[in-house]
Amino acid sequence: MTTISPEVVRKVVAEIVREVAARSGTPTVGDGVFPDMDAAVVAADVAWRAYLDCSMKDRARFVRVIRDVALQPEHLEYMARCAVEETGMGNVADKIAKNRAAAEFTPGTEDLVTEAWSGDDGLTTIEISPFGVIGAITPTTNPTETIINNAIGMLAAGNAVVFSPHPRATKISHWLIRTLNRALVAAGAPPNLIVTVSAPSIENTNAMMQHKLVRLLVATGGPGIVKAVLSSGKKAIGAGAGNPPALVDATANIEKAAKDIVDGASFDNNLPCTAEKEVIAVESITDLLKFEMLRHGAYELRDPAQIARLVDLVVDGRHAVTDWVGKDASVILAAIGVEPPPGVRLIIAEVPFDHPFVRVELMMPVLGIVRAKDLDAAMDMAVIAEHGNRHTAIMHSSDVNALTRMAKRIQTTIFVKNGPSYAGIGIGGEGYCTFTIAGPTGEGLTSARSFARRRRCVLVGGLNVR
Ligand code: NAD
Repeated sequence: MTTISPEVVRKVVAEIVREVAARSGTPTVGDGVFPDMDAAVVAADVAWRAYLDCSMKDRARFVRVIRDVALQPEHLEYMARCAVEETGMGNVADKIAKNRAAAEFTPGTEDLVTEAWSGDDGLTTIEISPFGVIGAITPTTNPTETIINNAIGMLAAGNAVVFSPHPRATKISHWLIRTLNRALVAAGAPPNLIVTVSAPSIENTNAMMQHKLVRLLVATGGPGIVKAVLSSGKKAIGAGAGNPPALVDATANIEKAAKDIVDGASFDNNLPCTAEKEVIAVESITDLLKFEMLRHGAYELRDPAQIARLVDLVVDGRHAVTDWVGKDASVILAAIGVEPPPGVRLIIAEVPFDHPFVRVELMMPVLGIVRAKDLDAAMDMAVIAEHGNRHTAIMHSSDVNALTRMAKRIQTTIFVKNGPSYAGIGIGGEGYCTFTIAGPTGEGLTSARSFARRRRCVLVGGLNVR
């Protein structure tokens, strides 16, 4: 008979308890989850100091580990299901696509490019170096996507990271942070490169923002948290709210524009900050555009009483009602007494320009459609509807001059031409993926180099061979 040592039994039992606790959401400590913010930051700082001794090859390997963990089919499925269950927002299929994009298309160490000058006086380089411990605040709308995306970029740049997840996404954020930590340690990384606290809260986020060992803050969320990090006295990257307009002019391929808008605006039930939030269409093509949208899974509310009921349900002043954010179109329709047609993905309603379906960032599959008398009027409206967030805009047109004029006027970080909004974050469009789009602070679509410091190394009088 084989005997199993008590040590092995203890380890296996501890592993099972941890896994069960992680999956049930019970706050337990370990694998990067700490009882308080100070302990989390100090552990991340110790990890970062050990990480300084790892090679660039090690870093690239650890980035590969993060990608591999996230891309395991059962992990993609678990993250998507758990996030939908815990936050009550979004849909599983699209969350899988978002997590996959974050894992596959977020740049790694290759993003860090050294600049050099050489001449009679020697060789000088600008090295893209880590900040140290980064405090990263993540949203409820893309909980795991942002952790995967930020973790890859931040670790690629040589940092450790303390995450402050949204309290309503605690369970899935804990699971991911633990799973990543275990895999990283198994691959030889210092423990606690990615940490958090057992009970995420605004108080803990404030403690993180004030902690002296945190050298850079990265906030992905609404205006409140962006303002908070920018007022912290530390270097901060703010990735804030959007309200992306989709403008359609008379030269557009209307059927394609309609499909692209329905696809983009219904993606993960409109949760992405980049998703189409209102449509401004020139008058001559508005009816055709709506007709084509209905053919591609949209449902039009025409009765003013129903539209008013929907406004009462989902809008509270200048904000969306959280309970309805990211809900399925069919659930929203049923709530206002409309029998949802099979396969409905998006609710549309033609509304005046000053309507809440245009002005409020709803983050649900409800899209206001505004009729503009001509292209100039449409551009004026789109610029106003975007609220100066400098986030994302979409335009459907085959007029290069009109596209150029609009891009110059609206000044958004992302401008998608003739495609669904998600093409702008590397899903079906060229370019890398990010879930932290820093319009307010100007880093744009963040990647490893955004989370790094530029340091000059000067060697005097040598190594110039020209
Ligand atoms: P949110 O602002 O409610 O929360 C974001 C994070 O900030 C959470 O972790 C939350 O706990 C924290 N937080 C919020 N206010 C805080 C405060 N005063 N002090 C300390 N912590 C605070 O946003 P959300 O509902 O989770 O996400 C949706 C918002 O985020 C939308 O406005 C969306 O446009 C924006 N967003 C932007 C990007 C981007 O890349 N620019 C990406 C995703 C989401």
